[in-house]
Amino acid sequence: MRKYTMEIGIGVTVVLLVFLQTAGYNVLPFVILAAIAGALYYTSRGKGKLTAFTSGGGRKEVKRESFTFDQIGGQERAKQELVEALDFLVKREQIEKLGIRPLKGILLAGPPGTGKTLLAKAAAHYTDSIYLAASGSEFVEMYVGVGAGRIRDLFKEARTKAKKAGKSSAVIFIDEIEVIGGKRDGGQHREYDQTLNQLLTEMDGIHANESPRILLIAATNRKEMLDGALLRPGRFDRHIGVELPDKKGRLHILRIHANNKPIDAAVDLADIAEQTYSFSGAQLESVMNEAAIYALRENAALIQPAHLNMAIDKVMLGEKTDKETSQEERKRVALHELGHAIMAELIRPGSVSQVALSPRGGALGYVRHQPQQDQYLYTTKFLHGQIMITLGGAAAEEMFYGERSTGSRGDFDQAVSIVRTLVESGLTELGIIDSSMMTPDKWSAITKDILDSLMAKTKEMLEMRRGVFEHALQTLLQEENVNGDAFRTLLNSYDAA
Ligand code: ATP
Repeated sequence: MRKYTMEIGIGVTVVLLVFLQTAGYNVLPFVILAAIAGALYYTSRGKGKLTAFTSGGGRKEVKRESFTFDQIGGQERAKQELVEALDFLVKREQIEKLGIRPLKGILLAGPPGTGKTLLAKAAAHYTDSIYLAASGSEFVEMYVGVGAGRIRDLFKEARTKAKKAGKSSAVIFIDEIEVIGGKRDGGQHREYDQTLNQLLTEMDGIHANESPRILLIAATNRKEMLDGALLRPGRFDRHIGVELPDKKGRLHILRIHANNKPIDAAVDLADIAEQTYSFSGAQLESVMNEAAIYALRENAALIQPAHLNMAIDKVMLGEKTDKETSQEERKRVALHELGHAIMAELIRPGSVSQVALSPRGGALGYVRHQPQQDQYLYTTKFLHGQIMITLGGAAAEEMFYGERSTGSRGDFDQAVSIVRTLVESGLTELGIIDSSMMTPDKWSAITKDILDSLMAKTKEMLEMRRGVFEHALQTLLQEENVNGDAFRTLLNSYDAA
């Protein structure tokens, strides 16, 4: 009967309006007012087209068996910390006996595409809970109070769905929590404040003995932006870092995504893991997917090493472009890239994995480097070497043409950013300083000093190998792509000659 209350109400109102109209009253203002009120109600509850948030039956709930921790590669520490936290939910009786207060919120913080959503889904599976997902941006609306209403609806929906499914708990996952949970600045954004207040109120309302129990998992790429009230004990007091995977993690992720694909025996996934330093899980998934697409394009039954190689370039730099370059431009680009590649081999032997002359993304050519091992700390010597590899392209252009081109702009940006790291880490002649107190002139002077001296060294090293350029240039112009081993053979054969 309750189900039809609204329909009966609408019917009675329509009949009443028709009656008043025929009795000679002007009902138009009432009709307009009712339409506006209806529209506001409709959108505020997330049922209108204006909103991305669908409440009630619209929200997708992930089936219990759909995701487990085994399907998440790497992230061993994050998984372990999360499981420990989730045991609070699983081992309820023990927790109650010991008088431990319930865990209400877990915050997953880390770069994009590292598997935060996957961890939340796996958490729901591990705790045998209903899973509901929303994004912080779904709670942002122009009207004050709408976001807060949606938060209320979300918690209500989680409880109802869990009860319906006979579950004792529900996991609510809110991605991009910083959108609603950003630091409050005293009245500027009343709507955001209300939404955040509502979230805090809902969290405060979670009790140990309530059934179904709600566990909130939030994810952010910008933990430093979050309001202190969200992070205090009793709210999101478990913080789990979800970082970019190391080599072992990358291999694990690649294996997971290779599972449903036909891979040639010649493919060495460990080698791919080595070449994909600093890739996120999402990028690694994309590498496997793009490789399969390349295989499809060539009508190959199996994914070959070359497909994976092309896929890495695509994910790193973008799709090949059809930029038509003149012969002279191609030669300049080739010399520029050889400058980078030769410097890279001189400074870090064995580190070049590809020299390419094909336009991709915004670049006309590129050198792909392969770090010998994951590294998190850098010395002055290492960073100076990095700057010299970066300057190698411009130095080569100067050697052969007497002047540089605009093609080095990106390289210089990179070099300047490394100088900034050197200064901020106290690795320059300025010593340990507060870089925020440095004037632009001072920045400019130290940058010029470091770059000029390293540029001179780079030119000196390349000048001694002028012959290598001429030797390798023809091969690169003809073949367009030279892989690392072939490039090293080329260099060694020149040295031997
Ligand atoms: P964002 O911060 O951008 O929301 P996220 O950290 O939540 O990103 P996910 O949505 O979990 O990232 O990951 C996106 C996709 O990347 C997944 O669907 C999966 O295919 C792949 N992926 C990411 N990390 C991993 C991982 N650790 N193991 C396996 N696959 C992963």
